Amino acid sequence: MKGILNFTIEELKVQFNDIGLVKFRVDQVIDWIYDKGVTSFNQMTNLNFQTQRLLSNNYYIYRPKISKINKSVDGTIKFLLLLDDNMTIETVFIPENHRNTICVSTQVGCAVGCKFCNTGYNGFKRNLTAEEIIGQVLVIKDYVDSWCNVANKISNIVIMGMGEPLYNWHNVSIALENFKLGSERQGINHKHITLSTSGVVPVLEKIIPILKCNLAISLHAPNSTVRSTIMPINDLYHLDSLLAVCRNYNMLYPDKLITFEYLLLNGVNDSPAMVKQLIKLLHGIKCKINLIQFNSWAGGKYQGCSSEKMQDFRKLLIKSGINATIRHSRGKDIMAACGQLQSHK
Ligand code: SAH
Ligand code: SF4
Repeated sequence: MKGILNFTIEELKVQFNDIGLVKFRVDQVIDWIYDKGVTSFNQMTNLNFQTQRLLSNNYYIYRPKISKINKSVDGTIKFLLLLDDNMTIETVFIPENHRNTICVSTQVGCAVGCKFCNTGYNGFKRNLTAEEIIGQVLVIKDYVDSWCNVANKISNIVIMGMGEPLYNWHNVSIALENFKLGSERQGINHKHITLSTSGVVPVLEKIIPILKCNLAISLHAPNSTVRSTIMPINDLYHLDSLLAVCRNYNMLYPDKLITFEYLLLNGVNDSPAMVKQLIKLLHGIKCKINLIQFNSWAGGKYQGCSSEKMQDFRKLLIKSGINATIRHSRGKDIMAACGQLQSHK
């Protein structure tokens, strides 16, 4: 039995051909799965009985199980999802006025080990399969009934949950392909998808020419020394090489901005001198900066800075001509905010 969500359309065409199904069956099946949200081939009423049976004998349509749901006062919903091997991951639904965003995980845990991140603190368990990444979106669509309820259409995806997506690029790339599937109402355009990475330079170099979604880089420091103290990956892939990749991105996509995420940690990277260094560091790179408030977690040794300090930091950036915004934390009361995700049951 194969998980049908693990295949792209092109791969399915080959697969269906191998089991004796004509090509247009692929479009019909895709429509049922990604546009109507069915989870069994028997529900595909425009397929004859033999075709339904052939498909059921060869494939299944995956969903993770919802193990726990936490609702925040701000409307954010955090889902603890149970995978087939009993591991758990978290996925977050973030409703806003004109859009609904899902934050997806790409790994169980994370090996990068950023010092401020709860996911990293808990270590790495395994990569998610493509169907486990796609299944997070589909199961939330089931839960909030995006299939029928227009108000609950999922418009955006951020790949910012647990894990480092570029250490699982193969499966993430299949998920990115399949997120697009379905009608205009169900498919999610790559313009509305953002992938965030801690900066796995060799993978970035390889994928930038083919990356259709938006790119966010977890920068978090204005120089290499500070970055290495909070992000061990900086010793592996140095800041200079990361910025060289960003310049290359600008050349390939002159109309797009890179987002740099910058988490403000009290006494670590939040002084006016650091702003100056940051401005100098990013000189010549077309970007915007997303300032992130630190979300605390039990056992973490860092502290966030005050909102006044954050505003001051932002003002200095703006004065220098850099577009800077402050990311409002969502779901903080239920530990659903950035860096608070962990897979405890
Ligand atoms: N691994 C990827 C994507 C997941 S983390 C990455 O690191 O980019 C998503 C974002 O949350 C990153 O910018 C990360 O640095 C940030 N983050 C991690 N821990 C945080 C915390 N405790 N408070 C606020 N943001 C945090
Ligand atoms: Fe991994 Fe991202 Fe957390 Fe760093 S911030 S440990 S890369 S999930």
